Amino acid sequence: MARVAFIGLGNMGGPMAANLIKAGHELHVFDLSEEALTSLEALGAIRSASANEAAQSVDFVVTMLPAGKHVESVYLGDGGLLAQLDSSTTAIDCSTIDAETARKVVEAAADAGIGFMDCPVSGGVAAAAAGTLAFMCGGPESVFPRVKELLAGMGAKIFHAGPAGAGQVAKGCNNMLLAVHMIGTCEALEMGVRNGLDPAVLSEIMLASSGRNWSLEVYNPYPDVMPNAPASKGYKPGFMVDLMVKDLGLAAQIADLSGVDNAMGKLAKALFEQHQADGNGRRDFSSILERLA
Ligand code: NAD
Repeated sequence: MARVAFIGLGNMGGPMAANLIKAGHELHVFDLSEEALTSLEALGAIRSASANEAAQSVDFVVTMLPAGKHVESVYLGDGGLLAQLDSSTTAIDCSTIDAETARKVVEAAADAGIGFMDCPVSGGVAAAAAGTLAFMCGGPESVFPRVKELLAGMGAKIFHAGPAGAGQVAKGCNNMLLAVHMIGTCEALEMGVRNGLDPAVLSEIMLASSGRNWSLEVYNPYPDVMPNAPASKGYKPGFMVDLMVKDLGLAAQIADLSGVDNAMGKLAKALFEQHQADGNGRRDFSSILERLA
């Protein structure tokens, strides 16, 4: 059993913290939202009045926050956590943020003698609740075993991606590829349907052929091909267009800073931004199929 401070109890952080309680850990929680704090308290967490109070004398700090500026302010801001923690605490940021900020925070932690890894997740709200998230971790090899042990209470697959920021880079690469193959899958299915093919039959053919990919396999974007996919439920998320646009922005930043001409990733970003501007931000990202209608 570990003492854990968990900061950021939103759609993802709430169920992740709940799973750590189920795994037998002592949770000290903080969020700006009263409602989020009350829900976690009802599950057995200890409510704190600030991030600093939650992080007093704990073995781990876990953060699950919206963006880089929140992570930077919680750890490096005036009176931030890094000024308070000592080497007995390991810090884990699970938020999806830009790789530059992740590197800055992990490196500042290393200078202060604190073990820290950036560990963004793949899997969404359903996997957060089921405890089956995939974690991709960046930071020192020496810190990874401790981090892995705690993350096992919230996830099914835990990878050490590389040094500081590597978790965020892995997440950016993965979600950019997801956006590209989702759009390609939509275009292929719509072309088939307009030429008289049944989308279910075409999906089966492509799944057994070289067009096979995750969007076809588990998340078919064409309505009524897969009863449990968001496409068959009016594109209720799932994974929202707003979040895909955020992740494609982070991927574009990674590509630009490392001099990669990611033309397909940038085109996917432009198409999802347009889809968002058309009022689809809170719908599932597979609704990009409707752009073709
Ligand atoms: P959310 O907006 O539901 O939750 C964020 C929480 O952080 C909120 O409860 C907010 O009150 C709290 N918060 C903000 N600033 C704070 C501060 N300074 N101190 C304490 N609490 C603060 O977001 P979410 O969907 O839970 O996503 C969290 C992170 O996970 C994001 O970086 C997101 O990109 C990533 N992510 C989300 C999904 C998803 O499907 N929702 C999937 C993978 C990754």
